[in-house]
Amino acid sequence: MREMNAETAGLQHSSLGDEIVGRINRLGQISETPEHLARVFLTPEHRAAADLILAWMRDAGLHAHLDAIGNVCGRYEGERPGLPCLMLGSHYDTVRDAGKWDGPLGLITAISCVADLHRRGRRLPFAIEVTGFADEEGVRFASTLLGSRAVAGTFNERVLSSKDSAGISMRDALAAFGLDPDHIGAAARAPSELLAYVELHIEQGPVLEAEHLPVGVVTAIAGATRLAASLTGMAGHAGTVPMLLRRDALTGAAECITTIEELCRTDDGGLIGTVGYIHAMPGATNVIPGQAAFTIDLRAPTDAHRKRAVADIVRQIEAVAKRRKLVLQVDVTHENRTVPCAPWLKAQVADAVAAEGHRVFELPSGAGHDGMAMIDIADVAMLFVRCRGGISHHPDEHVEVADVDIGARVLLRLIESFQPGPRSAKM
Ligand SMILES: [Zn+2]
Repeated sequence: MREMNAETAGLQHSSLGDEIVGRINRLGQISETPEHLARVFLTPEHRAAADLILAWMRDAGLHAHLDAIGNVCGRYEGERPGLPCLMLGSHYDTVRDAGKWDGPLGLITAISCVADLHRRGRRLPFAIEVTGFADEEGVRFASTLLGSRAVAGTFNERVLSSKDSAGISMRDALAAFGLDPDHIGAAARAPSELLAYVELHIEQGPVLEAEHLPVGVVTAIAGATRLAASLTGMAGHAGTVPMLLRRDALTGAAECITTIEELCRTDDGGLIGTVGYIHAMPGATNVIPGQAAFTIDLRAPTDAHRKRAVADIVRQIEAVAKRRKLVLQVDVTHENRTVPCAPWLKAQVADAVAAEGHRVFELPSGAGHDGMAMIDIADVAMLFVRCRGGISHHPDEHVEVADVDIGARVLLRLIESFQPGPRSAKM
């Protein structure tokens, strides 16, 4: 089967996927420790990765440099110099014990697509820029999207004084990397310089695999609301307090959690809810829990839907608490708006998928991406590539070379047939 795939892939196309996978493997070796891939913002490994990506960009015919936050920026001029650009990209930092595809696939595929244009001497009526965002995961300074926020001009200078777990401030880390922390503003781009931002990324979920499709068109990057809930009842002796007289905070939390699960399960609008943390106090085998705290992570393809769901969930767990004579406290700890992919741009991604002979399938992104920051200066679209088992943020993350090749061909077709769209009203 494998041999047949290699043959039927066709001679003129097989090189893109192979080149990309070779580079993914090479970049995946640049890590803090050899056993577990970790390439965290502004570390020596991060710098070594940036240098390698710069070299690949230059090979591909891009003018490349590091910007003020450590993003690797490459530019391929259009039919004449200075034209606004179609920006492509993804991030080159990783989580700890990461897979090697999350981020680098989109970045390296974009570089290979430009290299292909360059080999053919093809110039387009717009420039192409490829950006390797320095920090998307936010591992080191607990603040995500630092690279794309700097490009979008929304970088919050206050985070410069935040410190990593070793007590090193971002300001000092930037200086050690060879960057000037007082000039982050220089990384910002004007909306007039960008025609659109398009990112190819692994799906990080199992939907495309279940649909037997190599690629999918993203509808929106789902917004998220995180809540911290706490239930207070009455602690007591596990042997002496009869069941009907108890105010057990942990069983109350258990009922709240299954209520949340049921509400999300029966929702037909793509609502996703997770309780990923629970803590019971006093936390002893022979004591009725007097207090239980848990978190709720809620995501939906639209802000209106998510907000409605938050209200529904709070109402339902309030009812649980009331019936069980528990005191409920709920706080919103984090809120991210939904970032819709621009219809005009999404349609061009879909056309490229169809033109490459694949069924067009749309899906939302449950995970966050650099587009969440880029939307402030450009319309955004994303192309997802199937990954094995939907696994990501894990060393088992894997993409088949045939799918890498298909993703690259779709992206290349999108670039070559790209038509600038209407500038959106927010500019
Ligand atoms: Zn990513």
